[in-house]
Amino acid sequence: MHIIWHRTELRTHDQPALHHAAKMAAESGETLLPIVIIDPKIFGRQDLTPRRQAWFLENTRALRESYRKLGSDLIVREGEPFQVLDELCEDANKKDKATHLHFVRNYTPYAKERDGKVRETMEKRGLRVLDYAGQYTHEPGEVLNENGNPYSVFAAFRRKWVTLEKPELFESPAKLPSLPKTAIGEIRKVECDIKLPDFGEEAALQRLDWFLGEPEKVYDRTRSRPDLEDATSKLSYRFNIGTLSPRLAQHRATTYKWKFELTWWDFFASVMNAMPESAHEESNKTWRGFPWREGTGEEIERWTNGQTGYPLIDAGMRELQATGFMHNRVRMACADFFSRHMMIDWRQGEEIFRGLLLCGDRAQNVGNWQWVAGCGLNARAYFRVSNPLTLSKTADPEALYIKRWIPELRDVKNDDIFALSSSTRNGGYAAPMLDTKQTRIRFIEASKTHLAKSKNELEA
Ligand SMILES: Cc1cc2nc3c(=O)[nH]c(=O)nc-3n(C[C@H](O)[C@H](O)[C@H](O)COP(=O)(O)OP(=O)(O)OC[C@H]3O[C@@H](n4cnc5c(N)ncnc54)[C@H](O)[C@@H]3O)c2cc1C
Repeated sequence: MHIIWHRTELRTHDQPALHHAAKMAAESGETLLPIVIIDPKIFGRQDLTPRRQAWFLENTRALRESYRKLGSDLIVREGEPFQVLDELCEDANKKDKATHLHFVRNYTPYAKERDGKVRETMEKRGLRVLDYAGQYTHEPGEVLNENGNPYSVFAAFRRKWVTLEKPELFESPAKLPSLPKTAIGEIRKVECDIKLPDFGEEAALQRLDWFLGEPEKVYDRTRSRPDLEDATSKLSYRFNIGTLSPRLAQHRATTYKWKFELTWWDFFASVMNAMPESAHEESNKTWRGFPWREGTGEEIERWTNGQTGYPLIDAGMRELQATGFMHNRVRMACADFFSRHMMIDWRQGEEIFRGLLLCGDRAQNVGNWQWVAGCGLNARAYFRVSNPLTLSKTADPEALYIKRWIPELRDVKNDDIFALSSSTRNGGYAAPMLDTKQTRIRFIEASKTHLAKSKNELEA
């Protein structure tokens, strides 16, 4: 009996663990036991908010449907993975013998520890444990420079990345053996505060097909415009739980620009794998010890709830609160406002984002937050502090995005919105919580002082 353990690849297409298990089982006449384990160590984390739990569980339900269509079914259990799998083998052995465990590799520090424990338990039982590449076109540890080290600069990473041979992709199996008689387990319902997008791999593949039509062709011109609905693929929250294979998207992409953007997925995973401490610490050592502010509860609440008094920032945070998604350009503006204008520790903003984003992913989110804050490897220069008003005018020239998310501003003239004139307050919209001219200077001065001190210390 072959166990297939799904973790962050809730799909049957391009699922190497399923593909290889099904092939081996067909050859030897063995059966398959696909399983998803709800791990309390992950589900109990602060960033696993009800919306992210519900998103995972509903997509698990959809994966069960995918398996049923193929003639099998999906087991769902809750508990520590090594214990759940141990019990599953114990149960299975009463009728048949579990011989193999298959899964696709994950790279976070916790995943590595968890998988090590599972491997040990399973091997003690005599199972063969087989892990596979599957969530990245090129896995962490694969794209290396001539000294055999991982890249810290995206451009160099990508130059090497394009030269490497691309992996073989796998279609969904046409049919699977039926699941041996066993309790499949209930998938619980979690109520959440947003309407979730449609679930499952079918919806994800349809969205990919739709995007590869007209939207991808004009993406290089439209991708920076949050006012244009559906100008980007909105596939990020399907990649991070794997209802869509990121490898398949990269394989089917036809334009340079979209392929280029997709490569960030591999890059940030590679950085986090090489530097696990970057989850908590500035990757650029000269930034460690920077005097980030802690921020008051009220300040953080105003930012989180879209009440800063800066329209683009507030529209972005309200979009995020209401949908679990935010346009990339606005994410940059909101993170810049938090880490540079408010000068609050990027770790706090990163955590808030991770809990609200359906695509919340440690490696991607940390990598981007550090880039915006300026403390990552190869990040923005400290003196490039965005002006959220100038940015609104270029990103959202007709103020359509702003008016979509801030009803208080719907009757205000666009020029007044971009100038933040007093009429923006007529409909009850918040007064600006800070003066960006002053906060820009504060950040630049603090950076200069800190970097001079820090460089001296590192050189000493
Ligand atoms: C502060 C901040 C936090 C972010 N947090 C996350 C996160 O937690 N999870 C996440 O997946 N992305 C994150 N991003 C990256 C990016 O904003 C989203 O991936 C993108 O907006 C998702 O929209 P899309 O799927 O329509 O992207 P598209 O524009 O259609 O791009 C296709 C895919 O390319 C990848 N991609 C594009 N840009 C980036 C980028 N800058 N970094 C990493 N991947 C990228 C994503 O997988 C995306 O789905 C963050 C960006 C910023 C500035």
